[in-house]
Amino acid sequence: MVATPIGNLGDITARARAVLAAVDAVVCEDSRVTGRLLRHLGIARPLLVYHEHNAARMRPKLLARLARGESLALVADAGTPCIADPGYKLVREALSRGVPVRAVPGPCAAVAALSVCGLPTDRFLFQGFLPAKRAARRRVLAELRAVGATLVLYEAPHRLRDTLEDCLEELGDREACIARELTKRHEELRRGRIGELLAGLAAAPRGEIVLVIGPPPTAAPDEEALRRALQEALSRTSLRDAVAAVAAASGAPRSLVYRLALGLRGRGEG
Ligand code: SAM
Repeated sequence: MVATPIGNLGDITARARAVLAAVDAVVCEDSRVTGRLLRHLGIARPLLVYHEHNAARMRPKLLARLARGESLALVADAGTPCIADPGYKLVREALSRGVPVRAVPGPCAAVAALSVCGLPTDRFLFQGFLPAKRAARRRVLAELRAVGATLVLYEAPHRLRDTLEDCLEELGDREACIARELTKRHEELRRGRIGELLAGLAAAPRGEIVLVIGPPPTAAPDEEALRRALQEALSRTSLRDAVAAVAAASGAPRSLVYRLALGLRGRGEG
């Protein structure tokens, strides 16, 4: 399992280079991408394509080669195989047949972002890509709300705004970092509360993005204090504005504040 650069070709390791040059074949997602890397390294090895859509058909063929004693290097288009990339089932089946699997570690966007985000790294949860549909995305974020760890997400640029909005709603206004185009010419790191990052977001963000979100405040939100603040706010403004104001002031998830506000209104009406 050979990690390859996530942008800067200088990040290839000496061991990755040696292994790629020595194996019988290199198994890759896209032969154009890996072909370019091998040409850059001056390495000529046969390429076998293995991706989401042909994995079931290719896996037995790759396992048969391994059973014959061939050595294969699995690479992703970028970074570490198996991290939001194919490889897991192949590793599992190879291991179940007694084929040794070795790691040739190296770049990984999640780890690179963690190392520079300035958020706690003692505990983190790698979420990878959230579902593309809003309802499913919100459900996953709601599951993550109580997780006492930094969250690491991969996101496509055109979905970043929606995802940040959903994070604000479901997780509260936590500290976060947008790590864009890591190791590349246009590398950019933006740190701040989710609300601030949203306010400063370009109309059409571009590039590859890791979103890192800090853990929840250690103390659970004080629901009684939130209710008191809501009561006060509701006495002078609409439910929508009261929820927005109390969520912003307390940093509590907007969905929680909204639920409490509905409870108060229900009580008032009853
Ligand atoms: N296996 C890769 C790894 O080890 O990081 C991840 C592959 S995943 C299919 C691709 C996603 O990783 C991108 O959409 C982006 O979220 C993230 N990514 C990859 N390279 C990146 C970079 N240079 N800067 C920021 N994010 C990156």
